[in-house]
Amino acid sequence: MSTVKLLINGEFVESSTTEWRDVINPATQEVLARVPMATAAEISAAVSSARNAFKTWRKTPIGARARIFLKYQQLIRENMKELAALLTAEQGKTLADAEGDIFRGLEVVEHAANIGSLQMGEIANNVASGVDTYTLQQPIGVCAGITPFNFPAMIPLWMFPMAIACGNTFVLKPSEQDPMVTMRLVELALRAGIPPGVLNVVHGGEDVVNAICDHPDIKAVSFVGSTRVGTHVYHRASQTGKRVQCMMGAKNHAIVLPDANKEQALNNLLGAAFGAAGQRCMALPVTVLVGEANDWIPELVEKARGLKISGGAEPGTDIGPLISCAAKERVESFIAGGIEGGAKLELDGRRPEVPGYEGGNFVGPTIFSGVKPGMAIYDQEIFGPVLCLVRAATLDEAIAFINGNPNGNGTAIFTQSGAAARKFQEEVEAGQIGINVPIPVPVPLFSFTGSGASKLGDLGPYGKQVILFYTQTKTITARWFDDSSVAGPVNTTISL
Ligand code: NAD
Repeated sequence: MSTVKLLINGEFVESSTTEWRDVINPATQEVLARVPMATAAEISAAVSSARNAFKTWRKTPIGARARIFLKYQQLIRENMKELAALLTAEQGKTLADAEGDIFRGLEVVEHAANIGSLQMGEIANNVASGVDTYTLQQPIGVCAGITPFNFPAMIPLWMFPMAIACGNTFVLKPSEQDPMVTMRLVELALRAGIPPGVLNVVHGGEDVVNAICDHPDIKAVSFVGSTRVGTHVYHRASQTGKRVQCMMGAKNHAIVLPDANKEQALNNLLGAAFGAAGQRCMALPVTVLVGEANDWIPELVEKARGLKISGGAEPGTDIGPLISCAAKERVESFIAGGIEGGAKLELDGRRPEVPGYEGGNFVGPTIFSGVKPGMAIYDQEIFGPVLCLVRAATLDEAIAFINGNPNGNGTAIFTQSGAAARKFQEEVEAGQIGINVPIPVPVPLFSFTGSGASKLGDLGPYGKQVILFYTQTKTITARWFDDSSVAGPVNTTISL
């Protein structure tokens, strides 16, 4: 059985731990590898190596740092098919979706290769007589990243390329459920020229995350995952003075107005509710149908019934398996609870027949109508292929309904009315807003964001905002005397 290695000081090393867990193909239950829960000494060694490497890396020219990411993006492109196959095997999503996962991370790598102009400071000339004030954006030291299972390529790539391009060193803790594609990406990063110690990887779960939160030599933590764990990480890591940003759970709503392009809106809803088996933080698990758009439910159900459920590597698959048996059981129990709670089950995806993948963690598309706050299927993040339909009479009522939900990750409206779309963008409370775009994840020219229970910390995880997260602003106020000037009296006042 192959084992997933740690990366410490440029070497891929076998953990000395006694605690391991299996990495399992969720479509077949085949054990692909074993992943270690790193020991305290191994975490300490990874952080020390990052701390030592920082001494020289922070002084490496900005262009030399960025050029590594130019090479890295090329290596990712050349290995795209192999990376996608590995991702699908351990995570379950379709091959097309796996390539999308890698591609959205690749865009951040491309951004890291162009970071120079973003890391520039500011200058104000002559703030007082003969005095200039300017800022430096300096790297902060050892940074750490903790990532979830659902985007094992994109989310690690949100983190270490930007941190390292800014001159920091990094300790990454990938999801223990699917660490293999992350490790392959890390191997390629070393091949691109990242020096020993600049990027380190430790594996594990709760204990390893807590050790990262507590370590005094780690200066910043970027976390992506559930609201429960993210809230814990935010508080615990802040206690030791770290900068912390946590992108967390979601319950995203779409609004469909009756003037929407029906075909486009329904197809987009299916993709956003059921794609990746609903395991996207930007999925749309709740749709508010306004007025006559409620008449479209039978058509939506028929379209959902036609989606193909199979292993992610099978051609033509629309919906792959859930990540684990536990996730499947959890989703099935939500569906049972939805029925008991009084919602109308329009389509039941439990126990689908999936020829050739009888042991996989499959749940097919499931649709409830008549869903209301107070029902667990509405109040909690299911993270499975379950779509909740809600009825509203007007756009105002639909927006108020969305704003009543504590989460604020993403939302989308489907309409042909510019006035309705503009009202929506002005009034709705969420980080990412789509107008006839179901999953509006911003490209790295912008930053991902979030509000309410979906985010803690103020700066986004990639894009231009993250430069401020991964750097310390130093403000310098300078006066130079030219040699010919006569020294005046010693100035003891506080004015310039
Ligand atoms: P998770 O919170 O269970 O795990 C995230 C990370 O935390 C993993 O590395 C895991 O090892 C670690 N962890 C798990 N339990 C822990 C504990 N008790 N103490 C300390 N660390 C712990 O999340 P997940 O199930 O891997 O991912 C799905 C969640 O992530 C969903 O809630 C989804 O909405 C969210 N997500 C959010 C975004 C975003 O940008 N807002 C993006 C992707 C996923």
